[in-house]
Amino acid sequence: MREDKPREECGVLGLWSPEPLPVADLLHLGLFALQHRGQEAAGMCVSNGQELVIEKDLGLVAQVFDEARMERLRIPAANLGIGHTRYSTTGSNLRFNAQPLSVRSSKGILAIAHNGNFINALQIRQQLLEHGAVFQTTNDTEVMINLIARYTQLSLVEATARAMQELLGGFSVVITDRRTVLALRDRNGVRPLVIGRLPNGGWVFASEPPALALMGAAFVRDVRPGELVWVEPAGPSRGELRSWQVLEPRPTPCAFEWIYFARADAVLDGIGTHPARVRMGERLAQEAPAQADVVVPVPDSGIGAAIGYARASGISFDFGLHKNPYAGRTFIQPTQAMRDLKVRLKLAATPAVAGKRVVLVDDSIVRGTTSGRIVQLLRDAGATEVHVRISSPPIRFPCYYGIDTAARKELVAATHTIEQIRALIGADSLAFLSEQGVREAIGGPVCLACFNGQYPAGKPEEEMRKEALETEGASIR
Ligand code: AMP
Ligand code: SF4
Repeated sequence: MREDKPREECGVLGLWSPEPLPVADLLHLGLFALQHRGQEAAGMCVSNGQELVIEKDLGLVAQVFDEARMERLRIPAANLGIGHTRYSTTGSNLRFNAQPLSVRSSKGILAIAHNGNFINALQIRQQLLEHGAVFQTTNDTEVMINLIARYTQLSLVEATARAMQELLGGFSVVITDRRTVLALRDRNGVRPLVIGRLPNGGWVFASEPPALALMGAAFVRDVRPGELVWVEPAGPSRGELRSWQVLEPRPTPCAFEWIYFARADAVLDGIGTHPARVRMGERLAQEAPAQADVVVPVPDSGIGAAIGYARASGISFDFGLHKNPYAGRTFIQPTQAMRDLKVRLKLAATPAVAGKRVVLVDDSIVRGTTSGRIVQLLRDAGATEVHVRISSPPIRFPCYYGIDTAARKELVAATHTIEQIRALIGADSLAFLSEQGVREAIGGPVCLACFNGQYPAGKPEEEMRKEALETEGASIR
């Protein structure tokens, strides 16, 4: 629960219906269920097979889609569309970087929305520029769309499959050409993507299952790592879902989806996020017990793990912090005094902690600023001891697959020992869950690269070059 700036990754959505539907309104609902995945920009495009209307802007879903925009999106006989909520992992936060992105190409008009990062985007962009491609934005999405458009001899499905073979990293993508909707996941399945069925036989693709439910679609299954799916747009099998396992799957979905990102009611790759968070808390209680009177979650990110910690330790659970749900984003003067007051705008310690030894549970420490302020809040409210327990390991490495875990120099655990972090945040004790603990609590193979530096889908070449230079320098010295 970082207070200064909500920074999440992205959410994607796609819908295809065999007959006209209120597509814009359905996508609008679905985007609300993906708001937590990106709060800097939102957008959608709607088509009836001829027209394609896009509306997007900086802001939250509720701000971007006002009545005028929704009216423009309600085109007659609309039967498909895609949507996006964005946090800018690449490309600065400019209005023209909002998605979906549309281009007029050799494949006709294409619109695309994506979540995640291509680690070789820079190299591919350079190659495309040398072949005369023109770029309007600074984001990765345009690289993929240009790559697809380059294969003029191939069908859209074949060209997309070729692009999947060339792009490396962690990403989930939805694309439309006004006739069909395609959805795909990288071969490691780093970012989630699920398929749902509408009562009229139509299809929905979404980053997380709660979006399906909100749109009246039933969950069918996850898109498999390395799989491309699309809806047959015409002919006798119109409306059937097609699947192409383009790449051999090597599943290592992002552990952070279960630790923090995905909604608590989401089930990803068959594993529920809330139950996984509770198991992480249980493991944490076994690995790092504390002598205390009450277990308090950091709302909302620490709730699941705190429930597990309380359950496994036998210490009672209580909401020792109250979160003001209306505080949202604030633009208060960034002086130290005002910043300290700002914490109180969002969070207040309740009388439940007075005179108590508190176990404070949160999902992660990134820069380390949140925990320090909360420990102080609890002490001010009369807590006699504060033992901080974190339901994931220390974050020591950056994420190259679309989650903003900050640059390495900003990660407190990359430059401080656990004891130094404890002193920094002013806690009586501090402990993190082990990698093994996270792995077992999730119960499947996962990416843990931001904790252990082992990147299952590779690292950007520029990074590897930089590291090689640094090692060379070290050996010369
Ligand atoms: P920090 O103050 O930087 O240590 O932030 C830690 C808090 O940020 C925890 O409460 C986490 O739930 C939350 N958090 C962790 N990762 C992210 C992220 N990528 N974006 C936003 N918040 C995050
Ligand atoms: Fe997720 Fe961390 Fe892997 Fe990034 S590096 S995909 S945040 S587990």
